[in-house]
Formats: sequence, C-alpha cells, structure tokens
Amino acid sequence: MNRDTLIEAKNLSVRYPLGRSMFGAKAFLNAVDNVSLSIRKGSFFGLVGESGSGKTTLGRALLKAAPISEGEVTYHDGEKGFDLNGLKGAALKDYRKRAQLIFQDPYAALSPRMTVRDIIAEPLEVMGITRNRAETDARVREIAAKCRLNLEHLRRFPHAFSGGQRQRISIARALVSGPRFIVADESVAALDVSIQADVLNLLKQIQKDMGIGFLFISHDLSVVAHVCDEVAVLYLGQIVETAPTRQLFARPRHPYTSALLSAIPALDPDAPKTAEKLEGEIPSPANPPPGCKFHTRCRFARAECKTTVPALREIAPGHRAACHFAEEFDFTRSAAASA
Ligand code: SF4
Repeated sequence: MNRDTLIEAKNLSVRYPLGRSMFGAKAFLNAVDNVSLSIRKGSFFGLVGESGSGKTTLGRALLKAAPISEGEVTYHDGEKGFDLNGLKGAALKDYRKRAQLIFQDPYAALSPRMTVRDIIAEPLEVMGITRNRAETDARVREIAAKCRLNLEHLRRFPHAFSGGQRQRISIARALVSGPRFIVADESVAALDVSIQADVLNLLKQIQKDMGIGFLFISHDLSVVAHVCDEVAVLYLGQIVETAPTRQLFARPRHPYTSALLSAIPALDPDAPKTAEKLEGEIPSPANPPPGCKFHTRCRFARAECKTTVPALREIAPGHRAACHFAEEFDFTRSAAASA
C-alpha cells in the first residue's frame, strides 16, 4: 500500500444471496463487482453513477457496514492500519472511530427525541472516547463551532432547524470521534441549491483543516466537479472509468461518462442542447448483460461488446476506462458544452 493511500480496495465484491433460481442453482445479486480503487489521505474522491449502480453499497463496504464477499480492503492513516476482512470486536470499534458516514437525508438521520448536544455527543459516549460529561461537552462545543453551529442551539431539538442546519449537525456528529475517513453519501442531494453550496464549502474547509479523506457519493456531476480531486464512474457495480476530475471532464473515455456529462444543464440558456439520451433502464444487477454490461444502452456498441468483457485499462496516466474502443471514438463532443 502506497504511503499516501488512506484506504484501498482490491477486487472488492459485495453479493447478496437471492435464494435458488428455477433450475436449482444459487442466485446472487452482484451489488459491487470486482472493484479496485484507492483514496489518498486528505483527498476528495468522487463516486458517481445512476441510482442502482452500487454506489452506496460500495461506500458501506469501505466502512465495513456491508459484507465483503470477495477481495480485500485495507486502511492506514499513518497511525493505525486495519484489514477489513474479518475485522470485529474491539478492532472494529476502533475502526468506527476513524471511518464515519454522513447520511443523505438530514431529516431522517437525526432522532427527533434528542437535543443537538446529545446527538453530537452520542458517538463519544458509545465509543467511550471521553471520560466524563465536562470532557464530552467541551468536545461537542469544539466540533459544533467548527461546523458553524450556534452554541446556544445545542439545547434545541432537530425540528427547530432548516435542512442545511440539520446537515451541519449530521456532519458534526460524524466528525466528533476524530475520523480520518468519511463517506458522504449524497450528502447535499436533499438540500436547496444555495444551501448545497454552503454545505459543500463546509466539507471542503473540513478536508483542508483536518486532513480528512472523503468518499463523496453523488449522482450529480456538477457537484462532483466542484469538490472532488478524483472521480470514479460506477455502472452496475463496476468502475467503468476513473481519472483526476479535470481530465475526466475534459476528455471522457467511456460512453456512459460522456452521457452523464452531457446531461449537466448548461448555464447559458441559448447554448445548443447536447444531452445524449440514455436509452432504457439500468439492467438488474441480479441478471446483468453478458460482455460489456453497458452494451444494452450504448450507441457505440459492436458485436464484440455483447460477448467480451472490456478490461479497465490505463488510457492515459492516471486515467482508466473499461471500453474496447476508448481510444477510437471521440466521446468528448457531446460532453463538451457541459465540461
Ligand atoms: Fe459501448 Fe462497447 Fe465500449 Fe461497452 S465496450 S462502452 S458497449 S463501445
């Protein structure tokens, strides 16, 4: 594992059993399929894809909150390292302090029966991080101030707050145990656009000040472009393209990425409409198409795409794509206006 790497997955798969098929064979849903990625310390790594592509399951597997069916996940923050396969008991509790989650829905994520102080303090008490109430209160106040929460509001209940303020409470709860890795799962998707910017800027500030590595899960590429250093595009549980953000936006090498980019609304209302329509629905991960999983919706598909799985290979330094024709076609034209 590279010294700069915070968390690394190698050939990670997450499968859920579905019982037996009509022919008696065991059936599985491949939510994450043979994914390899690494996230650098203190960086923002974006994970994008449609609903049902496996983004949340992958994020949870990296937190040891979804079962690892195959492959390896290793974590090292410079002080401590963990191999997530077989991690349990005290070691898992220790990992939980270092790897946290910010949920999507700030309304459902907070208990309506607890005050803001108790919500933020709960991880400290459950994980036994602080020794007494005075220590807990001091830590809660410190983190609340970092998240720009008014300290006088700590005695109030969540219903008294707007969506943006509630998300800042969720962020404070994730930060209070001193994590080095955070999975932010669609953390701004439920917020108004003006509030989204506020929360994104807060996350960026936290990344800078505290050196935390983020896995930022989103279906919105314009948000990802704003905050992420690197991006991976997921389709049916597999990474189809990964690159530094600027490189991926400037020259996508996979038709799926190109279609996602072209769907970003242009700021200029008079700009020519270039959105590529993605035909059909994402297929079921319980019964994925053979060959390239994207071939049922790809306008560039040829005969070999239906039978041969394209490998995720390096097209340019740091830029990998899983398409037989990544060098051949120019996927940039349709994405150009958005980029
Ligand atoms: Fe499309 Fe074929 Fe490339 Fe798959 S391998 S993305 S079907 S052109």
